[in-house]
Amino acid sequence: MIIIVRSALPGPELDGIREFVERHGLRTHVSHGTDRTVIGCVGDARAIDPHAVRTLPGVEQVIPIRKPYRLASADFVASRTLVSLGDARGTVVGGEELVIAAGPCSVEGREMLLETAAAVHASGARMLRGGAFKPRTSPWVFQGMGEEALELLAEARAATGLPVVTEVMDPRQVELVASHADVLQIGARNMQNYALLAEVGRVRRPVLLKRGLSATVSELLLAAEHVMAQGNRDVILCERGIRTYETATRNTLDVGAVAVLKLETHLPVIVDPSHAAGRADLVAPLAFAAIAAGADGLIVEVHPRPHEARSDGDQSLTLGAFDALMRDVARFAAAAGRTLGAPSPSATARSRPVSAEDAARDAALVA
Ligand code: PEP
Ligand code: MN
Repeated sequence: MIIIVRSALPGPELDGIREFVERHGLRTHVSHGTDRTVIGCVGDARAIDPHAVRTLPGVEQVIPIRKPYRLASADFVASRTLVSLGDARGTVVGGEELVIAAGPCSVEGREMLLETAAAVHASGARMLRGGAFKPRTSPWVFQGMGEEALELLAEARAATGLPVVTEVMDPRQVELVASHADVLQIGARNMQNYALLAEVGRVRRPVLLKRGLSATVSELLLAAEHVMAQGNRDVILCERGIRTYETATRNTLDVGAVAVLKLETHLPVIVDPSHAAGRADLVAPLAFAAIAAGADGLIVEVHPRPHEARSDGDQSLTLGAFDALMRDVARFAAAAGRTLGAPSPSATARSRPVSAEDAARDAALVA
């Protein structure tokens, strides 16, 4: 049940409504927006008479929730969630700025990680990705460098200032990963690992929750609900392609789901075009489609020498291809009414000269 109250309702009246609801065994969550204040109520709403709530002073509307998710529902709050990455420049996901995360599928060593981190930072990425614990389909292939990779990621963050996102696969490793990473990634294969979701729900680190290979939008939102129910409201959803009968791409990017999520939830939604495509040459068009559908950011695999990559080399962009992608993304961002943070000065210095046609096209797109 959702209770909408007068926006400038005095504290004692607001508390009175909350106490009334809580006396009936429900929990309340207050969200203050510019136009309205919303009290979300979680628990068995049958225990409470909506007409009685309607008569309390300050109550404007009582809306029953029929959807299975509540904390993640757009109806439940007065404004969209902004997830703060905790870096010095104050990057938030879910606001006007598109936030791009980039980096290798797996951390494979110090040099390649630092080289990639510096390059993607220079091209305008706001977050560094890199797998330490890898969920590999086969047990006989590279499983990630583990704790050593976490230390390298922390070193790369110190060198660039980029917050770090990395996957955690096991509830027993949440504390360890959280002590090095800024954002905890839950991989597609673990989207319904409820013990893991609960564990990341108990830590104070944003969670990047990837959609399962065969999960519906509703199941993804219920997975987010598992995290949020433990107290962690900083969840970023990620569409990364789903399994369909189509084999031309590694997965099928569900662009429609991005648009649906933007309506259904207040949580930020980003897109992983790399795992959807499975091929480097399809990453850019899928990234553009994601932005057009309303994505709040992207997570892109980048490797200095994709042919040497120990995982997902086929879909990894070179440093140069990522730099070019960022320039093109800037145009789509402008067309979608979003901003893209400026590349760092070193990238501007080595940016390719803008041709007269490029400049004319930019002007037309921004106009
Ligand atoms: C990854 O990000 O490298 C990864 C394994 O992604 P997913 O869980 O979406 O397959
Ligand atoms: Mn990968």
